[in-house]
Parts: sequence; C-alpha cells; structure tokens
Amino acid sequence: MFDLTLTFDNGPEPEVTPMVLDALGRRGIKSTFFVIGEKLREPERRLLAARAHAEGHWIGNHTLTHTVPLGLQRGIETAEREIAPTQALIGDLAHPQRWFRPFGGGGNLDDRLLKPSVVDHLCTGGYSCVLWNAISRDWDDPDGWVERALTQCRTQAWSLMVLHDLPTGAMRHLEGFLDRAAAAGARFRQEFPPDCVPIRAGQIVRPIKPYLSTIEESALQ
Ligand SMILES: [Zn+2]
Repeated sequence: MFDLTLTFDNGPEPEVTPMVLDALGRRGIKSTFFVIGEKLREPERRLLAARAHAEGHWIGNHTLTHTVPLGLQRGIETAEREIAPTQALIGDLAHPQRWFRPFGGGGNLDDRLLKPSVVDHLCTGGYSCVLWNAISRDWDDPDGWVERALTQCRTQAWSLMVLHDLPTGAMRHLEGFLDRAAAAGARFRQEFPPDCVPIRAGQIVRPIKPYLSTIEESALQ
C-alpha cells in the first residue's frame, strides 16, 4: 500500500486536459492542476481550468510564462511578473491556500527553483509552495514513464507525482497507470505530503534554503 497525490503541470491543453479530467472523474480521483498563466488568457483554456475546479480539482499557479526558472532570473521584479499576474488570471478558481509550484527546468529540485525576493512575495501573498518527490519524466519518455512512476510509488510511503497535461502522447497511458497503481495498492489523495510544502499559507514551515539561488546577492556585487 502507498499514498499517491497526482499533479498535472503546464496546461491547460484542449487536446489533453479533457481526457485527463475524464480519466480522473471515472475513478473519483481528485488532483491539482498547476496551470501556466498565459494559457488562461485563451477562453477555451480558461474554461478547462474552470471545469477542473468544478469537478473538485485544485488549481495552482505555475508561473505566467514557464520560461527561465525563477532562481535563474536576475532582477527583483520576477515575482511581480510571473506569479502575481498568474494568480489574477486564476481568479476565483484559486484554492484558499494559494498553491504555487516553481519549476527547475527538467524536474530539478534545487537552488534554481526560488530566490529571496520570490520567497518574500510568496510569504507576503499568503501562498503555499508545493514541490514534489516523484518525477515520471513523462515529457521526454511518453511511453516509458509508467514503469518509472510505478517504481517510484512503491519505494516511498507517499508520492507527490509530477505529470503534465501536455500533448506529448504520455497521457494516452494515464488510465493504464491509474489502474496499475490502484492494483498495486495506491490510496489516491488530493492533499500534499507535508515535506513537499516548505511554505504554507505564507509561513516558511520547512527548510527553504536548498531551493534558493544567490543570483540576487551576486547581482549586488
Ligand atoms: Zn512545469
């Protein structure tokens, strides 16, 4: 038996997100969609986020453009440019805990994720920072990710899995993955493992330093 929390990042995508929602809905599984802000400017994609919300999924902020990891961006305006407008676009679909997930470029869980001004913005804004502890690499292995994901699930008590509702082909295997995970003893949960949430509702509750770059300090020198 193991616990499994699913997250779907980088959408919404009209060709993929509906299929993901259907697969989850048929099984009664609730998840979180970490959306890219600029995608919500398209009404069709905003409607998909609204559908996910209406079906009981949580909507999280995954930056406006998802280009350069925030910890690698110079300048103190990063959060105002990438986080605040995304939260405005999410609007009334936001969860009270204001979920925010940074990205390291390829799943890196290190000091590329954040920097001090971004952490200040998250704390002041009452955000919760949601990391992960399982990366299926679905984006670069659209057929092989299922085996990797199942192995990760079996090796820890509670996995917070990163998946992507992107048109890579990987989500064709989602139903197979869900059914195999269930057969292997998965208990699907919507909440996040506490160790993966270093900032909760604006409070730093777990060590944050491993995820902080020094780019702003170096910029002052
Ligand atoms: Zn991402």
